[in-house]
This record gives sequence, C-alpha cells and structure tokens, in this order.
Amino acid sequence: MLAELRGLNEECGVFGVFGHENASQITYYGLQSLQHRGQEGAGVVMSDGERLRGHKGEGLVTEIFNQDIVNGLTGSAAIGHVRYQTAGGGGYQNVQPLLFHFQTGSLALAHNGNLVNATSLKRELEAQGSIFQTTSDTEVLAHLIRRSSYGTMKDRLKTALSMVKGAYAFLVMTENEMHVALDPQGLRPLSIGKLGNAYVVASETCAFDIIGAEFLRDVEPGELITINDSGLHSEQFAAGVSDAMCTMEYVYFSRPDSDIHGINVHSARKRLGKQLAKEVEQAVLEADVVTGVPDSSISAAIGFAEATGIPYELGLIKNRYVGRTFIQPSQSLREQGVKMKLSPVRGVVEGKKVVMVDDSIVRGTTSRRIVTMLKEAGAKEVHVVISSPAIKHPCFYGIDTSEKGELIAAHHTNEELRELIGADSLTYLSVDGTIDAIQHRQGALGECGQCMACFTGEYPTEIFPDTQHPHDKEIMC
Ligand code: SF4
Repeated sequence: MLAELRGLNEECGVFGVFGHENASQITYYGLQSLQHRGQEGAGVVMSDGERLRGHKGEGLVTEIFNQDIVNGLTGSAAIGHVRYQTAGGGGYQNVQPLLFHFQTGSLALAHNGNLVNATSLKRELEAQGSIFQTTSDTEVLAHLIRRSSYGTMKDRLKTALSMVKGAYAFLVMTENEMHVALDPQGLRPLSIGKLGNAYVVASETCAFDIIGAEFLRDVEPGELITINDSGLHSEQFAAGVSDAMCTMEYVYFSRPDSDIHGINVHSARKRLGKQLAKEVEQAVLEADVVTGVPDSSISAAIGFAEATGIPYELGLIKNRYVGRTFIQPSQSLREQGVKMKLSPVRGVVEGKKVVMVDDSIVRGTTSRRIVTMLKEAGAKEVHVVISSPAIKHPCFYGIDTSEKGELIAAHHTNEELRELIGADSLTYLSVDGTIDAIQHRQGALGECGQCMACFTGEYPTEIFPDTQHPHDKEIMC
C-alpha cells in the first residue's frame, strides 16, 4: 500500500558487487531495483583496490546519480545503499554507505536493520573518547571495529559483531575485501549471486534479475561471508542462531518478484489471500468483486479471488506520477495525498459489494480514506480484509511501524476499528494462518522461523530499556 501515508515505512536496501569492471554501473541498477526499500537517500562507495571513494545524496537514485557521476566512480568493487528516513530528519551525513578513513586504511559500511543496543554501546564508546559523525546506529559498528585491536580486519569485525544486537544485514568494504554479515536471527533478507566471475549481494533477489546475475543462495543467520581475490569464504560468527525472518517482508516490503529462502513473495501473498478466504465470515463471501489496494495487496487480492470465486477487479488505481507525500507535515495534507495517489474505478465498484484487500492497518486513517473513497464512488458495501494479523506492537528491527500509541489496533477492538474506518466488516488474518500461508522454513529450534513480534509482542531478541524505536530517532537503517 502507500507506505509513507499510513505510517508503515520501508527500511533500507543494500547492494554490493566484487570483481567486476562495471561495478559502479551494476550498483546503480541494483540500487534502482531496491528503490522501493527507501526513497530518501542513496549512496555508492567504490574500491579500485587502493582507495575507497563514494558519492551519495538525498532523494531517489536517479536524482542523485547521472551517467557522468556513475562513469567517474571507477573500481571493480562497490557497495551501495538506499535509505528510508523518518520525518525528523537525519540529513546528508546519515546517508549510507558511511565511509571512514584511518591512517591504516579505509572502511565503508552499509546497513539494513536496526541495532537494539546501539544507545548503550554509543554511550560506552563516547565515554571512551569516540566522536560520532552521524546519529545513525550503523556508525556504532565502525567504532567497534576500529576500537578492537585484535588480528585481521575480519577478526575485528567478528569481535564487533559479537557486541551488537538486533537486526542487521551489513556490507563492510575495505580496499581489497568485502564482508557480508547477517544477524543471528536472520531478520532481514540478504542474498548472494554471481555475475560472470564477480559476486553480487543484495537485500532482494529482484536486484539480480535486473543486472542478469545468477542467484547462488541466501545468506544464513549468523553467517559472515568474506569476498576477496581468492573467492568467497563463509563462516558462522554466532552460536545459537535461529531463523526469525521479518514476516512483513513477505506481506508488504519486498517486491513480488523477489524470492526469500526459496519462497516467491508474490506466491506467498497469494497464499495469504487464499488463507483469508478460509477465515472470513459469510457476508464477505457474498460480495460481488474483490479489489486490492495497489501495489502490495494485489497478489493477496488475486489469491482471495481465486479461492472464493469472486471476480478480481481493478477497483483502485494508483496515480503513479503524483509527487511523494512524505514532505507534507500534517495529517490532513497526508490524507489529501491519499486522495491524489489513489482513485476508485467507479465503473467497477458502483452498486457493488466490494471486498477490499489490504496488507495492514497502522494508524487507520488511510484505510478510512480508501473505504470512504470507494463508498463515494458508489460501492454498496465495503468489506476490508487484511492479509496479516493486527499490528499491535512496535518494530525495533528497522521498520517504522509507528509508536505503540499510534498503532490503532493496539487500542481498539476489531468492532471499534471497523466502525472507525467505516467498513461493513473487518477481518484480519490469524497468526497461525499467516505462518501456514507463508511457508517459511522452520527455525533451528523448531519454531516458525518468522518474526511475528509486531503482531504478538514476542520479540526474537532481547529488547533493552533504552532500545530506540526508529520513530524516536532521527535516522533509521
Ligand atoms: S516486528 Fe514486525 S516488522 Fe519488525 S521485524 Fe518483526 S515482523 Fe518485521
């Protein structure tokens, strides 16, 4: 759905390539394919084997880079990042990759996720003399690497990784190596591919398709991969790993053409829609048409339509060329933004009982606006079905799901919420139904293998008293 309008915002995306003469061009295209994961800033750092240089800025990839800039970034290795930033700001200095120059060499860092113990680590590091250039939790890792005096770069990285907790897919690049690390819960997707003799790494497999790379495998929870001139070397840096893949990656964030651990996102969403068809009440099954809120709910709507036999129709159209609405500060302007971004198709919904499939409700305002829009266009009834359970708890792992106070399902019963959004019925998918439909592999300990914390409140890692919710910070990722 329209993330920036309803308070459910994407996180970030990382991309890397090692050993290709067109590394900057490849990274540019890779970042473009990950643009849905963050539209507020992007950057690339290149290595030519002797030094690291980069370019970054605020805005979309196509706004930050042009052909001259891409051509000017020479080298055969690169890491890149697209970033989502909360409304509070953050600014240029927080755009990643972060680049550090030391007397002994340079280091570039790109991160997708959120460290839950960054505040206490930062306090500790500052007490020991560290001076932070950014307000990003990502910089903590660089200081931990720098502080550790033990062994090789890889050894120092392992020591640093043993100290950070939370969600992270890290790309760390030096002049002659690239390191790829995933947190012990595997909260964020991260995949490795091959392009000729070069290795590529990306938050989503859709980035491989656009550059013509072959998918090799997903990075495993707690895995550290080092890529250098002698090839790819893998090891587990953490004991007691256990899958807790973010369920919202399947439900909403990832592109439908991406695969996560062998599961195609579009297919998983269709199954969520089919499962919903088993869980709705009879009145919903008597509807005339099914429509999905574009873009992320269309797959689930198709699944729902297939399972119920109710025809799928394009009842809502996205106006693609309307400007981004994140710059509009007030709720009323944001709601106006919804009106501009979505249009009901009167000829489809007029006089009909409509099933409106959406992937989630955060603050409720956007859902209310869309239901109103459909009714104003003549829909006789609007039954809202949500292809995930109710979001009642904040995410501390890099998704801005709003603070608990803003999560409307945390403070209202289903019936109150139905009334608030003006729907004729409201159905959420059950927790068990969501797990069954996604079909993610089981965790090492036999658990479901997915993080369900924003629905259940059961967080797969420790949450500390000073853990910052991305909403509280100036910057996330
Ligand atoms: S809390 Fe929710 S949004 Fe955050 S990682 Fe877990 S499933 Fe994803």
